[in-house]
Amino acid sequence: MAMKGPFISEIAKNTYAVNEYGLSAMYVVIGTERALLIDTGCGLTDLAAMMEKLTDKPYDVVLTHGHLDHVGGLGCFSRVYLHHDDWEMARNLSFDRLRDYCDQLGKMGGYEAYDYSRDMVREFTEFPEFLDIEEGHVFDLGGRKLTVYLIPGHTKGGLVLLDDRTRILFSGDCANVNTLVFGTSVNTALKGFLRIRALRDQYDQNWNGHVGYAGSPNCFAQPDSVPEDLIHICKMVLTGQDTPTMQGFLGNERAGMNYGNARMVYDRAWKLDEGEEPVDLSLI
Ligand SMILES: [Zn+2]
Repeated sequence: MAMKGPFISEIAKNTYAVNEYGLSAMYVVIGTERALLIDTGCGLTDLAAMMEKLTDKPYDVVLTHGHLDHVGGLGCFSRVYLHHDDWEMARNLSFDRLRDYCDQLGKMGGYEAYDYSRDMVREFTEFPEFLDIEEGHVFDLGGRKLTVYLIPGHTKGGLVLLDDRTRILFSGDCANVNTLVFGTSVNTALKGFLRIRALRDQYDQNWNGHVGYAGSPNCFAQPDSVPEDLIHICKMVLTGQDTPTMQGFLGNERAGMNYGNARMVYDRAWKLDEGEEPVDLSLI
C-alpha cells in the first residue's frame, strides 16, 4: 500500500529532511531564535502548515536554485531568498511541466511507493518577492549559523548552505550522485566542486535536494567521495579523456559519465566559456 506524505525524518537535532513523495527534498533547520526552510519542493504540500507543526519560531525560506522541482511550493510564501541568476528560471515555472515531472517520477516507481498524483500540484498565480542572496550570507538562527556558498554548475545561481552546528552541507542539486551540469560550462562547474572540496573539513555530511528519489523511500546523505568523483570527471572532460554514454534529456543529447560513486551529465560542447579562465588542472 502506498504511503501518504510528505515524509519527515529528523536527521539531526532540530534538523528535518522532508521527502515530498520522492520528487525532491526540503530541509527544516531550527535554532533557538529562528528557523529556515531550504527549498519548497514541487508544490504538493501546504508548507506553511507543515512549518507551523514543526516550529513556533519565525522563519526564512531559501532556495538552493530555481528549478521547478524546488520552487513548486513558492505559492505558500510572500518572500524567499534566491540568487538573482536563477530568478528568471523560477518565475518561468510551468505547472504543466511540473505535473509532467511528478508523473515521470511516479512512473519510475514513485506511484508504487507513495500515494500522490500529478493533480496534487497546487497552482498559484502570485510569486513571492525574491530577495537576492550573495556569497557569505549567514542565516543566524540562534545557536547555529548557516553560511551560503555560491556553486554555479547545475544552475547558474546554485548555492549550498553549511550548518556550523551539525556540520551538515545542504547542497541542493550542486553535488550528488547524479549531478546535472546544465547551467554553466564544465570548467565553471569544476570551480564549484573545488569550492566544496575546500569546505571539506567543515562538514561531515552532504544532504542533497533529493532523498527517497522516485520509488526508493530511503533517506540518507550522499557518499563522501562525490565531490572528488565529480572533480575527477571534470578533469577527464577538460583533457578530452572522457568516455561518456550519450543520453536523451528533454529533447537534447547530453553526455553522461560515471566515476566512483558519481555520475555527471554535461554538454560536451560547453567546456569553457569565451574569455573564461581555465582551471589549472595540474594543481588539482
Ligand atoms: Zn535542480
